[in-house]
Amino acid sequence: MILGGGTGGTLIANRLRRLLSPGSAEIVVVDADDQHVYQPGLLFVPFGLTDPAGLTRPRHRQLRPGVVFRRAAVDRVDLERSEVWLADGTSLGYDVLVIATGARLIPEETEGLAGPGWMDKVFTFYSLDGAVALRSALARFDGGRLVVGVVDMPIKCPVAPLEFSFLADWYFRQRKIRDQVELTFVTPLDGAFTKPACNRELSGLLRDKGVNVVTEFNTGEVDGQAGRLISYDGREVGFDLAVMIPLHGGQAYVDRSPGLGDELGFVPADERTLQSKARPDVFVIGDAADIPASKAGSVAHFEGEILARNIGRYLAGEPLDAAFDGHTNCFIESGFGKALLIDFNYGTEPVTGRFPGRLGLPLLRQSRLNHAGKLAFGWLYWHVLLPGREIPAVRSKMPTAGKRGLPAPGATGSPAQTRKAR
Ligand SMILES: Cc1cc2nc3c(=O)[nH]c(=O)nc-3n(C[C@H](O)[C@H](O)[C@H](O)COP(=O)(O)OP(=O)(O)OC[C@H]3O[C@@H](n4cnc5c(N)ncnc54)[C@H](O)[C@@H]3O)c2cc1C
Repeated sequence: MILGGGTGGTLIANRLRRLLSPGSAEIVVVDADDQHVYQPGLLFVPFGLTDPAGLTRPRHRQLRPGVVFRRAAVDRVDLERSEVWLADGTSLGYDVLVIATGARLIPEETEGLAGPGWMDKVFTFYSLDGAVALRSALARFDGGRLVVGVVDMPIKCPVAPLEFSFLADWYFRQRKIRDQVELTFVTPLDGAFTKPACNRELSGLLRDKGVNVVTEFNTGEVDGQAGRLISYDGREVGFDLAVMIPLHGGQAYVDRSPGLGDELGFVPADERTLQSKARPDVFVIGDAADIPASKAGSVAHFEGEILARNIGRYLAGEPLDAAFDGHTNCFIESGFGKALLIDFNYGTEPVTGRFPGRLGLPLLRQSRLNHAGKLAFGWLYWHVLLPGREIPAVRSKMPTAGKRGLPAPGATGSPAQTRKAR
């Protein structure tokens, strides 16, 4: 039983369907709706670079024949009885449960964020509705202070707010009003990004593009009428238009399932086997997991290879393979038809060089090739990633060939993924 038919749920269902014969396992995917959104495409919607209608496809059609799709909201999981209760009052038993319900945006947890001014002067591109509404707001924006603000970590795709800032610079230059727009990036981190080499590169880019950076700003309140962000330590950043990344948490049903989640609603799991810490018959994939890996579709993809194998082993009574190394791979759109690429894992920071080998795409450096890679990723998502196929030369284990100056492994975890419960 797989809860959630988004990126992780779909690709693990399809991988398992190929791995396990129909006679040996029934595979059920439960999701609250039947509209699968390609979330990386949301970045381009506000700038009119993508048609939002092209970002969604029916969920059930992404599943291989032999996978059952059940459209229903999950109400709670009863770990003791190995049962899932649905909002329609029915329950389903399971032998193995995969939690793939992702992360939830919770703007209402920040004072004022979802209050007056929300979807008028304060927007987010992290949802389809938000991205579409922001497109109109940006088109109307003729100058003033535009703030891109991250409330707190962890968030999905931690580089997306930076990409938005780079594209905003490009967008206003195209419209020839860049000199009338003050762009500011506001972050709770002590730099543009957590990883040192990456932070240096991205901070330099922000500087080159004339984007102000306000660091260590923990947004406690958003005053959408007066147009200001107020931090917990009393600092203020004024705006005419704010693009906010709201707090993220796990899904509400996790809180209603005793023993399943942590205080933020994410599900603690072994970071290498992806087995939950709650029960041996429960596994986790994607953004729902409380592990020190980034919340990114690429991570769900790399996890899928290990998780399918481990579920097969669990069913066969064999020991699990502690093989997930935290591999993360992100294109970072930097505007003007260019992008950077970063590739890292639990123990290795992003470095320069090439990916996935000596003749591959340039790492940590802007290039047109990377931009082409970012655009191609949309096709790969629907046709390779979701069907659970392998991308040639790109496997779960992070490649080292082609990389320069790899530090000695040892450090684990990413500070970008941590947040104290409030
Ligand atoms: C703006 C933006 C840009 C991004 N860019 C990139 C990028 O460039 N590269 C990259 O790798 N990643 C990117 N990501 C992140 C990526 O989209 C996510 O990490 C990925 O989709 C996570 O997959 P998931 O399966 O964990 O969650 P999701 O794909 O979000 O799926 C969760 C599913 O669970 C379902 N669900 C939730 N609660 C319930 C319930 N109670 N009952 C039933 N069903 C439920 C939902 O309907 C949903 O279908 C981006 C994300 C955003 C928002």
